[in-house]
Amino acid sequence: MIPLVDLKIQYEHHKDELRKAIENVLSSSSFILGKQVSTFEKNFAEFIGSVYAVGVASGTDAIHLALRATGISPGDEVITAVNTFFATSAAIELAGGRPVFVDCDPKTYLIDVNTIKKAITSKTKAIIPVHLYGQVAPMDTINAIAEKHNLIVIEDACQAHGAQYKNRRAGSWGKAAAFSFYPGKNLGAFGDGGGVTTADETVYQNLLGLRNYGSTKKYYHPTFGMNSRLDEIQAAILNVKLRFLEEWNKARIRAAERYRRNLESNPSITLPAKADHSTHVYHLFVIQVPGSRDLIIEKMAEKGIYCGIHYPIPLHLQKAYAYLEYKEGDFPHAESLTKKIISLPLFPEITDDQIDSVCEILTRLCTEGSE
Ligand SMILES: *Cc1c(COP(=O)(O)O)cnc(C)c1O
Repeated sequence: MIPLVDLKIQYEHHKDELRKAIENVLSSSSFILGKQVSTFEKNFAEFIGSVYAVGVASGTDAIHLALRATGISPGDEVITAVNTFFATSAAIELAGGRPVFVDCDPKTYLIDVNTIKKAITSKTKAIIPVHLYGQVAPMDTINAIAEKHNLIVIEDACQAHGAQYKNRRAGSWGKAAAFSFYPGKNLGAFGDGGGVTTADETVYQNLLGLRNYGSTKKYYHPTFGMNSRLDEIQAAILNVKLRFLEEWNKARIRAAERYRRNLESNPSITLPAKADHSTHVYHLFVIQVPGSRDLIIEKMAEKGIYCGIHYPIPLHLQKAYAYLEYKEGDFPHAESLTKKIISLPLFPEITDDQIDSVCEILTRLCTEGSE
């Protein structure tokens, strides 16, 4: 059996250290906003190459609170990619904003910068580029557009821990950036968790209040806020795991390169294109296949190989967004990709043999399928 993601091996490898970290929190009995969270925030900001990091309860909240901390208010339009995970746009709603979708580049799957300009109106306040699958969106161009139109840029870096664009990490390009530490992400906790990075002192101060009932001094509430904190146990786990992130990203890259070598001679399979100026940390390895994608996934599963689809329905066609009144045909690139993409099994510990068997079966199915 080859799963899409295997979290057990990593736990087994680092079991002693992880259990000790958890045990230390339990015996200290400091569970909320203690030493583990502040240590992690310092280390994570440094790793990203930003100034501040603020631990929050999830990636969704990281985006939501980053929007509020940078001044997005009800009624503001926020532009984002239509081919992202639902949480990106859900976070816009949580902040009171109105999501405005744009299409993706059909090759890199990243937000199409040319369509951003066309989506800007007098109500637009922010852009959320999504560093989808582990590659960084073209931040130079996006920041230039934002500057020209006086817009705020919030990076959705939930799939790109450690990825670089022009030698600077994802999370150091926008006014603020959001990370998820959901267990399956490149850096994952043992439950929900998230973080915001920023180099802006005011945004940082706002975030400290927003995640803690609008308060940075107990029982004093100069502003409104909510309860959205990274807890000490998750932070302790992340403090251990952060030290291995680069090693794990390298292992993902090695696995992806093996997939490429194995599959590149098959003209019916489209491999992920590398985006300009960006490294790829392969949160996901997404290919396009000919014929019936769903049948291929089903046949792979029959052989014990579990693939994924990220994502089967573009956001504008989700029922929840009926009120935005988009229609089929509005985003042709995303709509076409949605029908062809498959995410192959990928995690740092995947073996060469596992990759080779995925490729062997996939190649056979794709060749049959295209005949
Ligand atoms: C995972 C993810 C999120 C949300 O993170 P949660 O921690 O699950 O709330 C947001 N955007 C993208 C692109 C993601 O992959």
